[in-house]
Amino acid sequence: MKSKNKALFNRTNKKIGVWGLGVVGKAAVSFLHTQNIYITVCNDKNLTASEKNFLQKYNAFFCHQKNINYFFQENDFIVVSPGIDLTPYKKYQHKFLAELDLFQEFCTKPLIAITGSVGKTTIVTLLEEILKKYGHTVLVGGNIGISTLSLLSKQNNADYIILEVSSFQLEYCKQFAPDFAIITNLYPNHLDRHKTVEQYCTTKLNIIKYQNMHQKALLPLSIHEILPKNNKSNISFFSDQKPKQFLDRCSYFFTLNNLVIMRHYGSKNNIEESIIYLSFFPNITFTQNWLIITAILYLLGKKVKSENIQSQFTLPKHRLEKVTTIDGITFYNDSKATTPSSTLAAVNQLQGKPIHLFLGGLSKGIDRTDLITQLKNKVCFIYCFGKEAKELKKMCTQNNIPAQHYSNLDDAFQASLQKAHPGVQIVLSPSGSSFDLFKNYEERGNYFKKLILMLSGSNAKKA
Ligand code: ADP
Repeated sequence: MKSKNKALFNRTNKKIGVWGLGVVGKAAVSFLHTQNIYITVCNDKNLTASEKNFLQKYNAFFCHQKNINYFFQENDFIVVSPGIDLTPYKKYQHKFLAELDLFQEFCTKPLIAITGSVGKTTIVTLLEEILKKYGHTVLVGGNIGISTLSLLSKQNNADYIILEVSSFQLEYCKQFAPDFAIITNLYPNHLDRHKTVEQYCTTKLNIIKYQNMHQKALLPLSIHEILPKNNKSNISFFSDQKPKQFLDRCSYFFTLNNLVIMRHYGSKNNIEESIIYLSFFPNITFTQNWLIITAILYLLGKKVKSENIQSQFTLPKHRLEKVTTIDGITFYNDSKATTPSSTLAAVNQLQGKPIHLFLGGLSKGIDRTDLITQLKNKVCFIYCFGKEAKELKKMCTQNNIPAQHYSNLDDAFQASLQKAHPGVQIVLSPSGSSFDLFKNYEERGNYFKKLILMLSGSNAKKA
């Protein structure tokens, strides 16, 4: 049931600033234009010719970021791109207008929002494909690279809108309350921006903060203790084990001997239902993701049908992507693994054959010692590369894991070819962001794949 959305502010004669002119900023400008609002865009670079045309088309003004204080003072509200850290501007907090709040005010369709530390894009992508197989029209956006606000003009024909939501997008929300909120998992991440794990988790929990009792939430049972006591959401939990205890009026989705079971203790009746064996799902992602998808479908009132989940799915690239096998060595590109938890999940998933692992990138404020301790006896060799390579190598040595450090990916790759032998899996799963050496994780993953391709092209033999 769609709840009525409150108007965030009285728009009459209001001036709105849009800070940043990327995907979110541009969509904000074109949306706000439809509301007849006086818009000023602020950016840290001078406008290109096409940006000038864009602003002209929407009657928007420009203010260079060197005049940021003027920009804040002059505008009544500021829509900020999620990439911008607003910590230094807290005194203007009353003016921040979260993109998600604005989106929800105008969203008229059932809204599913998915956040969490890892697995968001994978689940959003698979869920979209599966719901389409049920015959639904689905719109997808958010952190996946499509601005939420750009979906508003297309929503008329949609049955569902699915948003991938980041902690940055949730940070300054004041009323965002999706009809169905999902948290995939919570592991430390982005501590360079959120400073503490508690702050990061509190921000993520904003996804359920403003929900009412008719709005659903699906959460990992492991976070049950940190949930705010006054939360009103209609909560279900999921867990990869049978829970030790069950609370009244909550639904639980858990796995027992590979079977997904739903148990609900209601005020009047108790229900237990076997839903589906996880082995029915294609082996293309982690079982946790399939458990979550099963629970979402169930809570949407869908019968989980094997014909809708056994087809060919197109997963986004750079997520534990099997690239190829050359001379008995299999290469995996998991460049999107920018956190220790995703690297650990990859290594656990690939157990059974020797693993040569590439670790690198920037840690985003997370101490990677714990990861390396857990990699012991699970990997044969670690190639540490990039800006933090020396520190990573030191941690490996302290844990008696064979390792070497390299300043770049090329050198690490060449060294791996010398060491690896048939039967080995070479895995790029860096557990850090790519910005020390690359523009983004895609560039890093594509570069890795290029190195492999050159190898297959020249049919090079290892020593
Ligand atoms: P997000 O959008 O949250 O960053 P992605 O689906 O893009 O998540 O996956 C990011 C990384 O996390 C990839 O390396 C992927 O293999 C890994 N991953 C995906 N789902 C999970 C999961 N449930 N548990 C651990 N790692 C996961």
